[in-house]
Amino acid sequence: MTPEWLLYLFAGLLGAALGSFLNVCVYRWPADLSVVSPPSRCPSCGAGIRWFDNVPVLGWIFLRGRCRNCRAPISIQYPLVELATAAVWVMAALRFSYDWRTLSTAVFFTLLLGIALSDARTYIIPDQFTLGGLVIGIALAFAPGGITPVRSLIGAALGFGLLWLVGELGRWAFKKPAMGGGDIKMMAMVGAFLGSSGVLLTIFLGALFGSLVFGPISMKTGKLVPFGIFLALGAAIAEPWGHAIVGWYTRTFLGG
Ligand SMILES: [Zn+2]
Repeated sequence: MTPEWLLYLFAGLLGAALGSFLNVCVYRWPADLSVVSPPSRCPSCGAGIRWFDNVPVLGWIFLRGRCRNCRAPISIQYPLVELATAAVWVMAALRFSYDWRTLSTAVFFTLLLGIALSDARTYIIPDQFTLGGLVIGIALAFAPGGITPVRSLIGAALGFGLLWLVGELGRWAFKKPAMGGGDIKMMAMVGAFLGSSGVLLTIFLGALFGSLVFGPISMKTGKLVPFGIFLALGAAIAEPWGHAIVGWYTRTFLGG
């Protein structure tokens, strides 16, 4: 039996490395740039970043958050995203141990993090996260322990269909696009991982948080609501607590 701590260590290191890659993805994918080339450079002076300065979290700490060459500050977003992704992977390992669900949960939360960051920065949700994630979600449904491939496909279709419908209704009511294509594709991905009940709860929570938090700001400033962030937050709550919330709702309001 392989010891548990080895899994946590591996999950943490892999998560930090993926977080480092996620930083590159959320900067380059919304601008349609390659994440492979050119290699990372300082945005201020253009100096190439050496591999030992690129070590997740530690590189930033050793450089005290500044470029080695020109001393321009490096955003704290880089180590924070690396730490958050590492935390996501360790928490999934703590929950599911040596099980396929560790992988699917960690991948799902990494995708949500990437979507929220891209949407917050650019109002763009890259297809790589949504359509790429959709394919991964359906593939992981074939692994034992999680949802079945059929439930995954139904969830994806429901997520896509519901948001498409809301978008069409909004376009008809407000005479302008009400729902971004990225949000629609995102909910297909969420459905592939969580199934149809997870889709419904995610949309409910996303709409609730979006209107509570961003509604007032949007009314005042006329800024678009980055709905993807709130859908990601809703999905992050629906994934671990969906069954508990639906069960509580059923008992309390439907007497079931
Ligand atoms: Zn520099």
